[in-house]
Amino acid sequence: MKRLDRPVFFNDDAAIIALSNNELVNSYPLLRDNLAAVRAGYQQYAAMNGDVSQIQNVPIPPELAALLKAHYASPNQDIEFIDKLRLDGEVKTCPMCGSAGGGTLDHFMPKADYPCFSIFGMNLVPACKCNLLRTDVLSLPAHPGARLLHPYYDDILRERLLRARFRDLGPVPKVTLHGTLDAAHPFRNAVEFHLTQVVRRTRVKEWIAGEWSKLVLKPSLVIRALKTNPGSRAELVDLLEEERQEVDESTGSKNSWGSMLVTGLLEDSVVDWLFAALWGPGRAQNGPLVNL
Ligand SMILES: [Zn+2]
Repeated sequence: MKRLDRPVFFNDDAAIIALSNNELVNSYPLLRDNLAAVRAGYQQYAAMNGDVSQIQNVPIPPELAALLKAHYASPNQDIEFIDKLRLDGEVKTCPMCGSAGGGTLDHFMPKADYPCFSIFGMNLVPACKCNLLRTDVLSLPAHPGARLLHPYYDDILRERLLRARFRDLGPVPKVTLHGTLDAAHPFRNAVEFHLTQVVRRTRVKEWIAGEWSKLVLKPSLVIRALKTNPGSRAELVDLLEEERQEVDESTGSKNSWGSMLVTGLLEDSVVDWLFAALWGPGRAQNGPLVNL
């Protein structure tokens, strides 16, 4: 997960007006005749700050829905920003799930259910393959606040929201993922929903388990500073916090998979286990942390 700056190289309103007046495209004059409704939909989306539990669907004729989807598949010059957004799909940290992948452009509100937003730039989020794994459920009306977090709108994404948890510490611990917000936090339900609907559907747990395997085999493969043993438990905490700071900075997010991993390592019981394992009897510097 990552808060993205809203792209500023295009103007959605100007683009839809230009497209609606373009007599050379198939959507003319149907888009022109429905322009007011589509523009109102765009304005509503922005006014609700991308909160999918509040944005109303905009009914448009099925023929227009199909034409807008065709425009998305093959953008003309009025909406050439879509091609640039596709190129930006090569993000370093997926805004939706926090992986190091990219390569897709995600309709935040799916175009099948919300065709009005098929070519709306603020609804197009560069993402990784989690795009294909998440459900089309956007919110849970029975649970106030439970909704997807929007990378262009939700500033809460700048906070640390997710962490790994390791249990049964040893060569193959049990790995789970959790939110960091307490039950009273206004974004608690949104984070839990996003975690369930997007992040947990990826291979994040397998990735974190793989990093743990490397860590116990040769700690510096995961935390470079562990090439030599920290002299004290406090020193271990310091170097893990430094590592996390660097991961946060290099990914531009406190919710990349790497940040979730190191936050999990910083849990007291894990620090205790790591420190004891680092100083295990007879262990070589940067050697295995467990007897494999
Ligand atoms: Zn992703």
